[in-house]
Amino acid sequence: MRIEDTSAAKLPSLGQVSDRIPFGRPTVVGRELEYIAAAIRNGMISGGGPFMKSCEAWLEQALPARRALLTHSCTAALEMAAILSGVGPGDEVIMPSFTFSATATAFVLRGATPVFVDIRADTLNIDETRIEAAITDHTKAIVPVHYAGLACEMDPIVALAADRDLLVIEDAAQAHLSYYKGRPLGTIGQMGCLSFHETKNIISGEGGALIVNDLRFAERAEIVREKGTDRSRFFRGEVDKYTWQDIGSSYCPGEIIAAFLFAQFEHAERICARRRALYDRYRIGLAPLAAAGDIVVPQATGEEANGHIFWLLLADEATRSAMIRHLGAANIHAVFHYVPLHSAPAGLRFGRVAGNGLPVTDSVSQRLLRLPLYLEMTDADVDRVIAAVGGFFGRSL
Ligand SMILES: *Cc1c(COP(=O)(O)O)cnc(C)c1O
Repeated sequence: MRIEDTSAAKLPSLGQVSDRIPFGRPTVVGRELEYIAAAIRNGMISGGGPFMKSCEAWLEQALPARRALLTHSCTAALEMAAILSGVGPGDEVIMPSFTFSATATAFVLRGATPVFVDIRADTLNIDETRIEAAITDHTKAIVPVHYAGLACEMDPIVALAADRDLLVIEDAAQAHLSYYKGRPLGTIGQMGCLSFHETKNIISGEGGALIVNDLRFAERAEIVREKGTDRSRFFRGEVDKYTWQDIGSSYCPGEIIAAFLFAQFEHAERICARRRALYDRYRIGLAPLAAAGDIVVPQATGEEANGHIFWLLLADEATRSAMIRHLGAANIHAVFHYVPLHSAPAGLRFGRVAGNGLPVTDSVSQRLLRLPLYLEMTDADVDRVIAAVGGFFGRSL
């Protein structure tokens, strides 16, 4: 790993540069090193310092959001949301199976049962028309996951939740600076969770944020993040000593992480715009294969999505494996996504499938391929991947 020349307009890499097209690559985009040095000079590198506050103020203004609490990961934010939601043993939480383990394990840690609902074949997001049938007397929350940074169909989800007195907690890990009908993702449910993991668009290595939209949860959220203490109020001078108030854990990021993240925030729009351009180049370049029925490509997303993932669907699992090998031989690294939670060992143990199985989830997870997409990728890199995908089908693109 190396960091070079942060001043030039060119975007330096933390990874190795070669003719290999990696699946992803974290990038230093601006003043990361300068801000880390400043954090060290400030003499405070634990959590709760000026860079953490600047990041939170940025999120509150840029999204905008009522309250943003920086965390050390999106998993931490999901765990905080699970604690704040008050779910416990016997309660059920509705979510897709086509997601990352963190969505489910945050609630399983509270003793609740994830109830898995199928996804839509077009957006790969939870099928909003199947949620109502999954609701029981034990249901406490719905957790929509905005896959690939594309919004779930939130209006019917929010209306259903309001009607049945359920919380909506958005897993917006992949959806920072994506929108649903003009509203930022993560700010629509009572709470939303963002990730700044190095595989996401805006990064700090590990990192995340809990967005608190329903301010009834705001004060307790600070306590839960600070090991169950009212330390945040103490630092604001609202109490003269801080004490153990509630359950909680250690969910703050340190200042060095926050300093890195703030430098990324300063270029957030540019990062997402570039990723959207790469996404569109893939979609347009692969359109002939989609028209021929060789593959399925995602829809045009316009300005509402952040270009986080470009996926395609192949005919079956064997074709996908052959495609991964074919691209690998061309020095291109493509990966699949996800082993669905309902079929994973812990999902079988802790979760439950709603209704009679999840046919779309099962089918998509066997056929989905994610193509390389990272900030420093050039148009020529994308064209090379498009040509290689076309070559697999004997077509020149
Ligand atoms: C990345 C991701 C997470 C976890 O984020 P971390 O910041 O790595 O904890 C959770 N949910 C989804 C859908 C993700 O893609």
